[in-house]
Amino acid sequence: MKQVVIAGGGISGLTTAFYLERFAKEYGLKVEVTLLEGRNRLGGRIFTHRSEGFRVEEGCNGFLDSKPSTVELCADLDISGEMQRSSDAARKRYVFLGGRLRKLPESPFEFVVSDLLSPVGKVRLLCERFVAKKRGTKDETVWEFGCRRIGREAVENMLDSLVTGIHAGDTKKISVAAAFPRIVELEEKYGSLLAAMPKVAREKRAKEGKRKSGSVGGPGGVLTAFREGLHYIIERLAERIEGKIMTGVSVKGVERQADGSYIVRGDGKERWSADAVALACPAHQATGVVESLDAPMSRVLASIQYAKAVVVALGFRRDEIAHSLDGFGYIAPRVSRRNVLGVLWTSSIFTDRSPDGMFLFRAILGGAHRPELVSLDDEGLVRLLLCDLKDALGIRATPRYVRIFRWPEAIPQYHVGHLAKLACIEERRKNFPGFFLTGNAYRGVGMNDCTRYAKECALEVLRYFSGK
Ligand SMILES: Cc1cc2nc3c(=O)[nH]c(=O)nc-3n(C[C@H](O)[C@H](O)[C@H](O)COP(=O)(O)OP(=O)(O)OC[C@H]3O[C@@H](n4cnc5c(N)ncnc54)[C@H](O)[C@@H]3O)c2cc1C
Repeated sequence: MKQVVIAGGGISGLTTAFYLERFAKEYGLKVEVTLLEGRNRLGGRIFTHRSEGFRVEEGCNGFLDSKPSTVELCADLDISGEMQRSSDAARKRYVFLGGRLRKLPESPFEFVVSDLLSPVGKVRLLCERFVAKKRGTKDETVWEFGCRRIGREAVENMLDSLVTGIHAGDTKKISVAAAFPRIVELEEKYGSLLAAMPKVAREKRAKEGKRKSGSVGGPGGVLTAFREGLHYIIERLAERIEGKIMTGVSVKGVERQADGSYIVRGDGKERWSADAVALACPAHQATGVVESLDAPMSRVLASIQYAKAVVVALGFRRDEIAHSLDGFGYIAPRVSRRNVLGVLWTSSIFTDRSPDGMFLFRAILGGAHRPELVSLDDEGLVRLLLCDLKDALGIRATPRYVRIFRWPEAIPQYHVGHLAKLACIEERRKNFPGFFLTGNAYRGVGMNDCTRYAKECALEVLRYFSGK
């Protein structure tokens, strides 16, 4: 029987455990999994808060159905029937620019007639077709890449929204190759993003059929969660894992033994022997665990920075808001100089998240540009958000429901140099066969990336056991 210890009970650790057991059975291998979670609850950044008839996601809000990994995981857990797609009414997405909301275009024609860019900005963007392909191997920031290809205005008004919405990050620091590898790949393959668009759209249509799923400036796919809230998938994963799951046990260190096995140290005197170890905790926590194993790897993990974020949920009486709230919500790019990074119109996205007659908003503040907001007191945060809601949506009512969730280390930042860090980690890891890392610190910050790489991690562990 091979013993595997997994540290971290978020979606990455639980998915790794689930697929390890499943594939081990398929391959006829005997594997016993022990999953150790430092906090007293499972889920990490996925937790659904329920109170006063509201259901609020404390962190992650859902996953896009345009990437297969989480959809497949749901099928493997037999919970596809419980998946809840955001309502069609929530297809429209907005950006706050120049003091008001502007709708993100849903087609190239809408883009041409939209007021998202000035006429000069639009012409510059359309000239992208004639911009030469990048030469050399410089690790460009999103800002450098965007200014070179589509012009500064399109970066500030459009690309920045993507970086704000996904990474809560700074376009002048985030590496385009690490954070948006697909965009770099399209430039490399087609020489121009505009030239690539019809081809990509054709491929997408062939895959998805006619289902409409995104906007020109927004992410593709439909936001998906569960009727019970996103934590539902965490609970189902925990139920299906046959091995031992221990909460309130923080892993403090890992040591390699002369025979190639590992000793995993917990808080107190507890020790676990393992034939393989998978760390599924954020890089800033993995660094301490790895220190005793390999100091250089630990230093690289420590250098992966995290953006801070705070989620503020406000519930209003619907009849006190005049705005139609006919959409998903809005992003406030840096150039708009707002307090919030973005506001989701949660009750429009998932109509059952608030009691009858009430409307729930979920805003995110902080990020790379306003990290200090995470330490602001509750009253101050609500005041800032109300100010933004008044300017964007004309809301002057008093919220009847307030919940605030702080994430001092919310989202890993794939700064320039990130890919070199990953290469270094992989190089160091070669010295420790049977030691694995997974989670959103490495190759994608979203839930879909976590489930994808957790499944790959499970396969890697089994390949290691079978000597392939
Ligand atoms: C505010 C916010 C909004 C987000 N919105 C979205 C979204 O809408 N869509 C999307 O796709 N993604 C979103 N994300 C990102 C998404 O939540 C993460 O990618 C995902 O949840 C990360 O899962 P994980 O298991 O890798 O890490 P985590 O969820 O961080 O889980 C890691 C676990 O490891 C535990 N741990 C840490 N150290 C140790 C240790 N030493 N020993 C034992 N256990 C340890 C932690 O307690 C934690 O439970 C959001 C994130 C935040 C913060």
